[in-house]
Amino acid sequence: MVQSDETPGRDPEAPDRDPDPTALRPDTPHPSSGRQSRFTPGTVLEERYRIVAPLGKGGMGEVYRAEDLKLGQQVALKFLPRTLERSPGQLSRLYEEVRIGRQVSHPNVCRLYDIGEWEANHFIAMEYIDGEDLASLIRRIGRLPHDKAVDLSRDICAGLAAAHGLDVIHRDLKPANVMIDGRGNARITDFGLAAFAGDLEGTSDIAGTPAYMAPEQLTGGAVTKKTDLYALGLILYEMFTGKRLFDGSNVAEIASQHSATSSQSLSRDTGDLESSIQRVILRCLEEDPAQRPSSIHVVIAALPGGDPLQAALDAGETPSPEVVAAAGESGELAPAVAWPLLILALLLLTSAAWFSARDSLLHRIPMPLTDEQLEFRALEIAELMKPAAPPGDRHHFFSLSDDYFEWARENRADDPWADLDTVHTSPLKFRYRQSPRELRPRDLSLSIGWNDPPFATPGMVNMVLDPRGNLLYAATVPLQKRASESAAREVDWTRFIELAGFDPTGLEETSPEWAPPVSTTRRFAWNGTFPTQPDITLRIEAASWEGRPIWFEVFPPWQKPLAPHVDERSILAKSADIIFVLLFASTLLLAAFLARRNVVRGRSDRKNAFRLAMVGLFVMTAAQIADSDMIASSLVVGTIVTILLQQSIGFAAFLWLSYLALEPYLRRRWPRTLISSTRLLSGRLSDPRVGRDIFVGVLAGLLMQ
Ligand code: ADP
Ligand code: MG
Repeated sequence: MVQSDETPGRDPEAPDRDPDPTALRPDTPHPSSGRQSRFTPGTVLEERYRIVAPLGKGGMGEVYRAEDLKLGQQVALKFLPRTLERSPGQLSRLYEEVRIGRQVSHPNVCRLYDIGEWEANHFIAMEYIDGEDLASLIRRIGRLPHDKAVDLSRDICAGLAAAHGLDVIHRDLKPANVMIDGRGNARITDFGLAAFAGDLEGTSDIAGTPAYMAPEQLTGGAVTKKTDLYALGLILYEMFTGKRLFDGSNVAEIASQHSATSSQSLSRDTGDLESSIQRVILRCLEEDPAQRPSSIHVVIAALPGGDPLQAALDAGETPSPEVVAAAGESGELAPAVAWPLLILALLLLTSAAWFSARDSLLHRIPMPLTDEQLEFRALEIAELMKPAAPPGDRHHFFSLSDDYFEWARENRADDPWADLDTVHTSPLKFRYRQSPRELRPRDLSLSIGWNDPPFATPGMVNMVLDPRGNLLYAATVPLQKRASESAAREVDWTRFIELAGFDPTGLEETSPEWAPPVSTTRRFAWNGTFPTQPDITLRIEAASWEGRPIWFEVFPPWQKPLAPHVDERSILAKSADIIFVLLFASTLLLAAFLARRNVVRGRSDRKNAFRLAMVGLFVMTAAQIADSDMIASSLVVGTIVTILLQQSIGFAAFLWLSYLALEPYLRRRWPRTLISSTRLLSGRLSDPRVGRDIFVGVLAGLLMQ
């Protein structure tokens, strides 16, 4: 028998005196079971197992080595102690132990085979581990050699990671429940109190071995994976120091020992340990679960030589997102460097935007007037046209036409850009719209266009000025039916011609050539040249309706008439749209299929997929709002809802689906590439690696331009 030097009668928390069968367990053998074993060696159970020898006793079980006669292999059989045999609660616990423990299959976890019953003795058949448990090893040799302790720590962590990966919480981790097998590897045993994390939510039964229970476990608080991390901390402490941290024998004593232990006293105790190990132990032993390592993977990463990612890859698994985020923990950059890098990256980005705006062609076009001055001028000119209704809403934007550049390249071949400062009508156009009612675009992008909303409501005015304020175009939609009293007055066009920047006397009347955009009763046309470029000829055309000016337009030689829009694409090009839609639909289907498969197999990172979708939703909505012209109007809420419904939600759903579909494959193949993005999505903005990668990304992006 392995555990032999404990005095059985010493333990005051014997389960047979405890009314709740699943509650507290002693960490010493069961007292009432005595010394002599229940089965004499040679007893054959179920015609299958021949008892060889007793192996050990815990608080809840007696373990025997036996021979599986059918398969000719060694097994270990764990029986309920006689005193607990008839308790139905105990029996279902025994079943539960197999039901849960059997899920966890890992080289560092003792394998459970099945349950059995022989003459009212219920038992578990499990893998026989030819070795000694850690409690007895430490009792025997005291503090373990450093390297051995590190090895065993890794083993225990790996086994625990396998359990936690299945959401199984062990709840009774302690040296007595860790076996060291014949090859010196640690194996976690005894899933007698294990439970699925979800099943523990909201329950508050106190279960465990007091000396290895976390504060929240002692007080009936929420038991989580972090509770196991606390017990793990105690095991590490014991292995590395050879001492047991808490040795009280009941809950009250342990609780008072907990409160007597401060992190200062702990750091003193562990002062001679390697600092990484000391740090892990101290963090695992934090009283507040939130302060403990966020997952077992973080513990693995923090242990000397820890690389949970490599471990997962070596084991042929798809590393979980937590593993990826915990990998490469030892910061390549201190946060003190990461933050400045992050800020520098943002500065670079903004200055790049500024420089590119400054260096562009747009910037070389002279803009002597401000937007406000241009708009004021447009408003004045609109008044001259006596629109059918007063302005209710106004809007302006700039557009750039390349007609001039094309013309200049042909006609000013020596230096096409030389005239940019003097050319009478600039390629940059100030476009102005006014309407008796709110200008509400119909386009999905919610931005007001030249003809969106359509130029059709009586009283609307559309106007083009060049940046110097010269009138290039003005038109207004007349009333649909002429007012009966309107006198057929003549329009005086000289004012308009002056506003366009010409001397009326320098023009020569001619016959109209261009079609007006609105119906007219009289039309006018002039020929002339630009005042600053007498070599360039141009036309001006105008029209009136019932004695009101309704159209005025300057036609420079580079203005091309609208061509009828004939779809001259080949059949193939026309079907490209359909092919694209089909491709897109099948991509979506494929993504949905992959995503579903990943979710079903538990491979996908749903938390981060959701986060990414939310970020996408936010960024897309913000960008659309910034881009739309509606935000100033009274319909802000409506605008946001429209944007959400029309674009952002679809976009976010697409992101979500793609993440679910593709990320697990990336994570399996190239997990290291995902370390920072996973951390970023988990909200670790100040993480050194995140800072570094954003910086590198921004720099690469800038260099590519
Ligand atoms: P309990 O639920 O009573 O704590 P355990 O499963 O911890 O029971 O087993 C009690 C003791 O039996 C362990 O401390 C260990 O010494 C021994 N033991 C348990 N399982 C095995 C096994 N599979 N192979 C060898 N010895 C074992
Ligand atoms: Mg045990």
